Amino acid sequence: MSGLSHSFGPQQILKDISLNVAPGEILCLLGPSGCGKTTTLRLIAGLEELQTGRIAWNDLVLADTGLNVPPEKRQVGLLFQDFALFPHLTVAENVAFGLKGLSAEERDSRVHEVLDQVGMLRYGTKYPHFLSGGEQQRVALARARAPRPRIFLLDEPFSNLDTRLRNQLRDLCLHVLKKSDSSSVIVTHDPEEAMFMGDKVAVMQDGEIVQIGPPEELYFRPLSAFVAGLFGEVNEITGRVVDGHVVTPLGRVCAPNLNDGMEVDVLVRPEALHVSEGSDRGAVASVITSRLLGGSSLLHLSVPNGEDGGLHVHSRVPGRMLPPEGSSVRLSLDEQNVFVFPRE
Ligand code: ATP
Repeated sequence: MSGLSHSFGPQQILKDISLNVAPGEILCLLGPSGCGKTTTLRLIAGLEELQTGRIAWNDLVLADTGLNVPPEKRQVGLLFQDFALFPHLTVAENVAFGLKGLSAEERDSRVHEVLDQVGMLRYGTKYPHFLSGGEQQRVALARARAPRPRIFLLDEPFSNLDTRLRNQLRDLCLHVLKKSDSSSVIVTHDPEEAMFMGDKVAVMQDGEIVQIGPPEELYFRPLSAFVAGLFGEVNEITGRVVDGHVVTPLGRVCAPNLNDGMEVDVLVRPEALHVSEGSDRGAVASVITSRLLGGSSLLHLSVPNGEDGGLHVHSRVPGRMLPPEGSSVRLSLDEQNVFVFPRE
């Protein structure tokens, strides 16, 4: 995609979007509600008429000014959150529906193959209303994969499922997509899902792509407070740059590329706040309360903050660490998970 811009009436929704997705690659479009993710997907699918820009698959132009290849000719597979199976067709008939130009034997063999991939082989003769939501979405995945689409588009595909099923389906879908040559684009507003599924993640804000890269790059090197905050909770502290550093109640933080005197926001991920119970070094904090969250513990802490009283921060530590309420602990900062941006 290059130079995609799109408006609905006077409102510009997409502003100069350019993206490349390689064969076999999974790109996640991540951003808050209304930032233009679905519109981008609909333009790729041909469900929305292109206004400005170009969409091509290799050298084959799918949409350009004055040219719009219809959706059914784009060889695009679609998976949406509502499973959209045909209720009057069996599971096998649903999957076979989009398979054109094959002999009956080839068609049956492909239906068998994709139903097997999603663990639904023994449900071939059942009708959709006999299936649970998770099973229906497996069939929808098989149906969308069956014609071997060039481009596979998924819009919030797991959001109708409860947490456990969502995790199972995500895992299944990741492995199905990684076995295919399709270029896949997944729309989500869930950062964990984007990191789980995406080879690359493109973060959208107000119709623009503000950062794109592999998940670890976005997580560890966010270019803005918006991107840093999108990937999980952050403790926010305001401060001022002095001699290339910001002094915060949690410790001194490097601010290498920012001018002296600049007002800044310091964002500290909970896992950047290391807690020790016996040490006499680092900022002192008192424990408000602590909770075990399974594989990690979350500590609510109060840190003295001059005349402003106590600064409430969260620290997430691996494993079980549950210091008693009211006890004192010491804090140190892991700067890999601390970000400093000019105050917005
Ligand atoms: P969500 O996560 O809520 O689905 P999104 O990032 O996918 O959001 P879009 O669905 O692309 O966002 O919508 C972007 C903006 O365009 C929204 O303000 C929406 O109301 C508007 N919009 C979308 N489709 C139309 C339309 N057909 N006519 C007018 N406005 C539209």
